[in-house]
Amino acid sequence: MDANQRKAMKGIIKTTLKNLEENGFETAFVNDRNELLTLIKTLIPENASTASGGSETLLETGILEYLKTKTNYTEDSRKAFVSEHYLASANALTIHGEIYEVDARGNRVAAMLYGPDKVIIVAGINKLVLDLREAVERVKTKAAPPNCIRLEKDTPCTKTGICVSPYFDNRHLCALGCQSDGRICSNTVIFSRQMVKKRITVIIVGEEYGY
Ligand code: SF4
Repeated sequence: MDANQRKAMKGIIKTTLKNLEENGFETAFVNDRNELLTLIKTLIPENASTASGGSETLLETGILEYLKTKTNYTEDSRKAFVSEHYLASANALTIHGEIYEVDARGNRVAAMLYGPDKVIIVAGINKLVLDLREAVERVKTKAAPPNCIRLEKDTPCTKTGICVSPYFDNRHLCALGCQSDGRICSNTVIFSRQMVKKRITVIIVGEEYGY
C-alpha cells in the first residue's frame, strides 16, 4: 500500500468508525498488533472470565494466547454465555457501520447477540467492505473457502477455492450456497443499530488478519 492508498484507507476507517458509533457500538482504532494487545490488556484484566468464537484473527494477533494463559478462559460454548467478556472477529464490517457474521453452528453469533455483557470484535483492515453486497461476496470468496479448507470440510469450495454461488443475490443474501453436510455458511447475522448501546466494542487494526 503506497502513501495515497494509505490516506484513502484512513478515510474509510474513519467513516466506518463514525458510523459504527452512530449505530451504538463502542469503537477503537489501533495501528498494529502491539497496540492491539496493549488495549486488550486494558479492557480485559488478568483473571477476568472470558470466552471467544473461533477466529484466526484472535489466533494471529496473540489475543487468544493472552486469554488462555492470563484470564479465566472457557472453551465451553454454553459457559461462554456467562463470561464477563466475549471476543470474536467479524466476517465483514461495512462502511455504513454494520457487522456481518456467518456461522456454522451459531454458537459464536448467539453469544455475540445475547451472551456476555461485554463483547469485543477485532477486525483487520481486510475485513472492511462498502456494503452488505460486498460483505456477502467477501464471505463467499475470501472467508468461507479457506475456513472450510482449515476445518477439512468436504464442501465444493475446498476444491475450487470459491463458493458455488459467489455473488450477492438480494432475494437470498447468504442463503444460497452448497447443499453439502459440511457447509459452514448456515447462520447469517447482521448487527446494525443497537438497542443496548456500547455493549459491543469494535476494534479495527491497521493490518490484515484472519479470513
Ligand atoms: S455455501 Fe458451501 S460452497 Fe459456499 S462457501 Fe459456504 S461451505 Fe463453501
